[in-house]
Amino acid sequence: MINRKSKDEIKRMRHAGHIVALVHQAMKKAVEPGISTLELDDIAYRVIKENRAIPTFKGYNGFPASICTSVNEQVVHGIPSKDVILKAGDIIAIDVGATYGGMVGDSAWSYAVGNISEEKQRLMRTTEESLMAGIAQMRDGNVLDDISGAIEDVANRENLGIVRHYGGHGVGHVMHEDPFLFNYRVGDNTKIKTGMVIAIEPMLNLGCDDVVVAPDNWTVSTKDGAASAHFEHTVLCTDGEPVMLTTLME
Ligand code: MG
Ligand code: MG
Repeated sequence: MINRKSKDEIKRMRHAGHIVALVHQAMKKAVEPGISTLELDDIAYRVIKENRAIPTFKGYNGFPASICTSVNEQVVHGIPSKDVILKAGDIIAIDVGATYGGMVGDSAWSYAVGNISEEKQRLMRTTEESLMAGIAQMRDGNVLDDISGAIEDVANRENLGIVRHYGGHGVGHVMHEDPFLFNYRVGDNTKIKTGMVIAIEPMLNLGCDDVVVAPDNWTVSTKDGAASAHFEHTVLCTDGEPVMLTTLME
């Protein structure tokens, strides 16, 4: 059974999502050559705390920081460090969660550090496009495979690798609720209903699909070392258009 959120729960998720968007606004400003990923984590922590929310990631299964920072060939779950200094030409995926009033918002975005290659631009542009194509399918009466397929089609058109072992998920009282959402067709005919909230999050690679986990047991990287991008929004299904909850409120 997939949880459908009440009006009140959605209101609190909207607030959590706004705070997540404030963090991304701060990240967009802060990402530049010379900054460390630990400094980015400090900024994110401060924004979350100033807004009376809880950094959802901190302590989640023992994760030590408020954001995941995944640079270049890193896909997801990179750990912020004072030793990881961004340089021009890098791309960085920043994933952040905030809990407000007991409800979670979850969103990731990839950022360019200075000038980046045409290939990395194409990767970022396409991954964002695949997210938006997936979101457009978050409609009452559609099935999960409609979202997965929309993401897969955009990735295939650009011949990008699709990360297989990680994907989207229901979100609400905790970060990971049912259902799991694949970023490619698996034939999942679970119906999407008004009131469902799903974090949709394609991870696409310039090379192959395969990933490896580092000895730190967190950092996921592409097996072939090619760059990866990650974009994510927490999305509500309504009777009308899908609503992204992890954007700034008016
Ligand atoms: Mg996330
Ligand atoms: Mg997520």
